Amino acid sequence: MRIDVVSIFPSYFDGLTLSLLGKAQDSGILDLNVHDLREWTHDRHRTVDDTPYGGGAGMVMKPEPWGEALDALAPDTGRPTIIFPSPAGEVFTQATARELATREHLIFGCGRYEGIDERVFEYAAELGEVRLISLGDYVLNGGEVAVMAMVEAIGRLIPGVVGNPESLVEESHEDGLLEYASYTKPSVWRDREVPPILLSGNHGAIAAWRREQQVERTRARRPDLLDD
Ligand code: SAM
Repeated sequence: MRIDVVSIFPSYFDGLTLSLLGKAQDSGILDLNVHDLREWTHDRHRTVDDTPYGGGAGMVMKPEPWGEALDALAPDTGRPTIIFPSPAGEVFTQATARELATREHLIFGCGRYEGIDERVFEYAAELGEVRLISLGDYVLNGGEVAVMAMVEAIGRLIPGVVGNPESLVEESHEDGLLEYASYTKPSVWRDREVPPILLSGNHGAIAAWRREQQVERTRARRPDLLDD
């Protein structure tokens, strides 16, 4: 998969060279390219923002650098998925991550200030599939942290990125439930024992116990997931 990220703070993404996503890039499974939006400015101050039409607080990202960035990154053939993180977008879930992990080319455009001139989204729709995606119902200073989270959630679903694909199947949200409690050695730690069933070697009973745990935890912590 190819991923292009456009931001005025490209160094945010240095962390994506670490761990599993770093290895995925080294092995060629993931082609991740981070671009500075200011590359597509032409004035001395490399300006990316201006005052909002109609007045109001804050600044808005200018359309021209975004237009040039999209022209440079969208291929002549094929339609990439162009994602703009936004608190006013659809909420990102594991299902979104699964869907986007099947795409060949994702372009992420990180907003700052009060956001990006609306016409950029209209123009982007001529070049690819546009998605405005929110990390959750709160406001961040910029799209970078949201894109980091999305790239990590999507990237780990690309075949070959996580060594043992079975570990993906059993995780929270994969089957609409939260994950069961996990334990490792020692079996007693500070007078706290691992549930004896996990030491029984009875795989059927362990699977049933874990399933029960999943349902109980989901009911206690995220009853909204059971309503769906
Ligand atoms: N004025 C915008 C609004 O009320 O919808 C918020 C702008 S926010 C300060 C600046 C940028 O941060 C946004 O353009 C977006 O890229 C990013 N951002 C903020 N909150 C976000 C969230 N919950 N999910 C995804 N991106 C977010």
